[in-house]
This record gives sequence, structure tokens and C-alpha cells, in this order.
Amino acid sequence: MADREAQPAEADAERVVEFDAVIVGAGLAGLYMLHRLRGLGLSARVYEAGGGVGGTWYWNRYPGARCDIESMDYSYSFSAALQQEWRWTERYAGQAEILRYINHVADRFDLRRDIRCETRVTAARFDEATNRWTIETDRGERVSAQFCIMASGCLSTTQQPDFPGLEDFAGRWYQTGRWPHESVDFSGQRVGVIGTGSSAIQAIPIIARQAAHLTVFQRTPNFSIPARNAPLDPEYERWVKEHYAARRREARESRAGFVVPATDHVQESALAVSEEVREQDYGLRWQRGGLGFTSAFADVGSNLAANETAAAFVRAKIRETVHDRAVAELLTPQDYPIGTKRLCADSDYYETFNRDNVTLVDVRQSPIATITPTGLQTRDAAYALDSIVFAIGFDAMTGSLLKIDIRGRGGEPLWRKWADGPRSYLGLMIAGFPNLFTITGPGSPSVLSNMITSIEQHVEWIADCLAYLREHERGTIEATIAADDAWVAHVNAVGDTTLYPRANSWYTGANIPGKPRIFMPYVGGVGTYRVQCDEVAARGYAGFSLGT
Ligand code: FAD
Ligand code: NAP
Repeated sequence: MADREAQPAEADAERVVEFDAVIVGAGLAGLYMLHRLRGLGLSARVYEAGGGVGGTWYWNRYPGARCDIESMDYSYSFSAALQQEWRWTERYAGQAEILRYINHVADRFDLRRDIRCETRVTAARFDEATNRWTIETDRGERVSAQFCIMASGCLSTTQQPDFPGLEDFAGRWYQTGRWPHESVDFSGQRVGVIGTGSSAIQAIPIIARQAAHLTVFQRTPNFSIPARNAPLDPEYERWVKEHYAARRREARESRAGFVVPATDHVQESALAVSEEVREQDYGLRWQRGGLGFTSAFADVGSNLAANETAAAFVRAKIRETVHDRAVAELLTPQDYPIGTKRLCADSDYYETFNRDNVTLVDVRQSPIATITPTGLQTRDAAYALDSIVFAIGFDAMTGSLLKIDIRGRGGEPLWRKWADGPRSYLGLMIAGFPNLFTITGPGSPSVLSNMITSIEQHVEWIADCLAYLREHERGTIEATIAADDAWVAHVNAVGDTTLYPRANSWYTGANIPGKPRIFMPYVGGVGTYRVQCDEVAARGYAGFSLGT
């Protein structure tokens, strides 16, 4: 398994090489896009900033990193042979296993020869005279492509820690989303973890078992459901593989891109059933574990009172699990609806706070003032630390796109077009930026779903679109401003029917100082969205203008 890919030919630096398409990013999206473009006979090059393929699973090597959608579902469905031959070892595979899988895919489909790693795309400019994109990299390469496909990831630009004093910290510090490749040993150390999102919730139990002492600095508590991870039952694996076609179809047509076994009242309001029934259905889902918890009833995501029944169930579980009443209170989310910040799935997260070597510090009450050479100082106390782990999240959905100097018609920069928040048609294309596609872009279900389901849907839609253009002898496709505006209005209107806008989450950009506050993904559901995209295509790409 190669960790480093072939490097750019020297010659590329001197001449402008032409491709049918350039793909930015070699995660799950970029790899499948390359495979599909090859299938169309198109020439393509993939640029990847990391030292290998894998995207999320290349960068996030922190202890405990694993998927929280079952691996039998969080895997490609495009190849029946691949899904039959690959064997997952756990219900939720760990990072190393997922990265092995992605590398296997790169080899199995012979993808590496078109991938340039350790190469960051810095600029992409549309030339109206030639109707082509010029793409520049940090290695000084400049290539030309008819199509530019952003597979740059929704959670690939980390929020950089900018705490005062960090540069003088005498210990070591780490970011979950940029974890070193060599193993990190916290044995005997005093470790601080800043953040309590999904990444921290996975890392904390493991670091706590290793470190001499762990201090968790929490700003906002999160709702977490036990993952109930376990070795994959071979009988279950056999059964899923036998029924894969139907299971994948159901996932594609579902709301969230994966299917969990239904309980009896999923179509009903949580308020229409008795308390006993609610306890039973939430209890069943809590026992099964995982993200299906909030879909026990139809209106948990849209009705505050219904939502409160689910939140109250989890709050009671936290109080039941955590022995120290004050710590339990601190860990209990009170001021936002469950599910409106990304739900977490854990292995022994709340239990970890019963350990003698774990301390929880409320940095909402007493904010972090500075990192000192020997640790961390909040407004009220000093904490001696040997290592600090920043689990403070990502500049989600738009971060990686806006880091590239993308310029469309008339040299308009994307950052200006998106100054008040992202605007696009279907989350796939942007008016004024012809032949530029965004896989799982803002305005599509993307991060609200099993992302592989959404990635495959976008990749297949884009591939079909390029085939259509060729067949109809069209050279460009571009969203119209009217379609762009109407889609943004629709995304906002559907978002406003839910409770999502009520939370300060990365879905709304609230985690990044200065970022426009707008609910970015499309919450209409994966299945509904797919139908909309297919109808647009069937109507000759309605809402797009096609040029020669
Ligand atoms: P990525 O995997 O993010 O890949 C994008 C790649 O583009 C990166 O490697 C990046 O280096 C590269 N790139 C970006 N900008 C440039 C540039 N300018 N030039 C060159 N290269 C560039 N989703 C789920 O559905 N289920 C899960 O269980 C799940 N678990 C997750 C766990 C973690 C820790 C994280 C952070 C995310 C998780 N996600 C999960 C979301 C996950 O990001 C997606 O599932 C999926 O891996 C995204 O694939 P991608 O190819 O779209 O993007
Ligand atoms: P996150 O959910 O954004 O969590 C970041 C945490 O850091 C939050 O608790 C946040 O507090 C805190 N924080 C940020 N800045 C801070 C500051 N200046 N001071 C103190 N605390 C600060 O990021 P993440 O945990 O990396 O997860 C991001 C997403 O990646 C997840 O939502 C999920 O989609 C995906 N993911 C999935 C898994 C999985 O289980 N498969 C694992 C990891 C990640 P506030 O809440 O107050 O902002």
C-alpha cells in the first residue's frame, strides 16, 4: 500500500498540460469521480494536498477515530464485486481499516497513476475566451481543463487553534484533524483535550485510559448515543451481502442515506404516543446504538416539544451514568434541541467521567484565557499540562473551497459571490462559474447524510451530465442566476421548517468567528433530493444554460 503517490512530472511545471477534467481532492469523492471519468474515456488529473489518498481517513488518525454509520453502509456501492469481496471486521470500522479500504479501492481500480499527492490546488480561473479552467498548484504547476470538479471535502479544513500563548507552550500539541502518522503515547502525561464534539468524544475515553490525568475543556456539551461497536457478526455480514442491492436502493431513497431497522412509530409524532411507548422506542434505539436514535418519531427534528422528549431521554441517561451530580449536570445539554448539533456516537464517553484521573472544566463559565508554557489558564484557574489536543473542528462545507482562489466569469472571485453565505444550484454548480462542480457542496444533503451515498449520487449525476454534454455537442454548462436564487430560497425555506437553525453549530457556520451565519446543507432528504436532481437532468438540465 503506497502512502505517497507518484509525483508530478518535471515537464508539467514548464508547459500547460490539458485535461478534460481536474479533480481537487483524493478522498472518497475524488477517487470515485476519477473512476467514472475514466469510464467515459475522459482524461483527468487529481490533485491531493495530503501525502496519500483517503481524505478524512488520511488526516484524522486520532485515537478512537472511526465511522459512526455502520461500515456495511458507510462504503461504496458502485461495484457489486467490491462490496462482496471486502470484509469489515467491526460494526463501525476504525480509521486505519477505512484507510486500508480506500487504498484497496485506489489499487483495485488502478487510480493512482492519475493522482498527484502532496500538491495543493491554490487557484482555479475560468477563461471566457477558451471556456476552460486554468488550475494552479503550490508546486508551480499550471494545467488547463474543460471541467473543474471540487472533491475537496466538507470537513477537510481544520479550525486552526489561535489561543494566545500557544507558541510558547513547552509541551506537545495536536489537532485531531491533522494527527501525526507516528503513534502518540500519552502514558504518564497530563493531557488536556479542548472541545467535546464527535472527534473529542471518540478520543477522550481512549486518552483517559492512557494518560496519567486528562482534563477536558468543554464549551458546549453534546448529545451522544452509545455506538455499541462490536466485531462484525459474520452471519449479519452474510445476510447484508445477500441483500445488498435492495439495502443500497433503500438507502438511496431514504432521508439520511442509510437505513436503520424501524421501530413501530416512526411515522407518528412523538407527542401522539404515550410516555410508555416513547420510553420503549427510545430505549430500543438506545440499546441498538448509533445515529438512528433521533428518527424514532417523525417530528423529533421539526417540533420542539417532540424533540424535547428525545432530549429528556438522553439527559436522564447521562444522569444515570455519571456518578458525580455536578459533572453530570455539566455534561447535560440544555440549550439546544437534540440533533441540531451533529449527534455523536460514542464508546464509554459518559462513563469516562467516572474515572479518578479525568476532570471536566467548563470553559463557557470560565473561558480559556491563554496557553502558558506549562499548561492552560482559564479565567479562574491554571492547569498544568504536558500535551494539549485541539478537537475544535473544521471550517465546514465552504472552508476548503474558499481557500482556493476560484474565479468565474469576469474574474469574479467565489469569496465575493459567497460573502453572505454559499449560493449554488442543487449544491452542484454555481451561477457565474461554468463547468465547475462541487461534490457534496453546500445546498445539498451532504453532511446531513451517509456521505458515501451522497458522494455517489453527485459523482454519478456529474458523470451523466458530462456524457450528455458530449452527446449533445455542448461545451459548457452553467447554473442560471434564477435557478441559483430559487434553490437557495428553497434550501432556506426547508431548513426553516426544522429546528436546525436554533443551534450554534458548524452546519450554520457559527463555530468559525466571522463566518456568515446560514444553515448550509439541504435538509429535504437524500431520496427527495435525488429525485429533484434526476428531474432536472431529464428536463435537459433545466435551470442550467448549455453553451457550445
Ligand atoms: P475528504 O475526505 O475530506 O477529502 C477531500 C480531500 O481534498 C482531502 O484529502 C484534502 O486534503 C483535499 N483537498 C482539499 N483542498 C485541496 C486543495 N486545494 N488542493 C488539493 N487537495 C485538496 N461521514 C459519514 O457519512 N459517516 C461517518 O461515519 C463519518 N465519520 C467522519 C469522521 C471524521 C473524523 C470526520 C472528520 C468526518 C467524518 N465523516 C463521516 C464525513 C467525511 O468527511 C465523509 O464521509 C467523507 O470521507 C468525505 O469524503 P470527500 O472525498 O468528500 O472529502
Ligand atoms: P465539532 O463538532 O465542531 O466540535 C468542536 C468542539 O470544539 C466543540 O465542542 C466546540 O465547542 C469546541 N471548540 C471550538 N472552538 C473552541 C474554543 N475556542 N474554545 C473551546 N472550545 C472550542 O468538530 P469535530 O468534533 O471535529 O466534528 C466535526 C464533524 O466531523 C462531526 O460533527 C461529524 O460530522 C464528523 N465527525 C464524525 C465522527 C464519527 O463519529 N464518525 C468523528 C469525528 C468527526 P462549541 O460546541 O461550543 O462550538
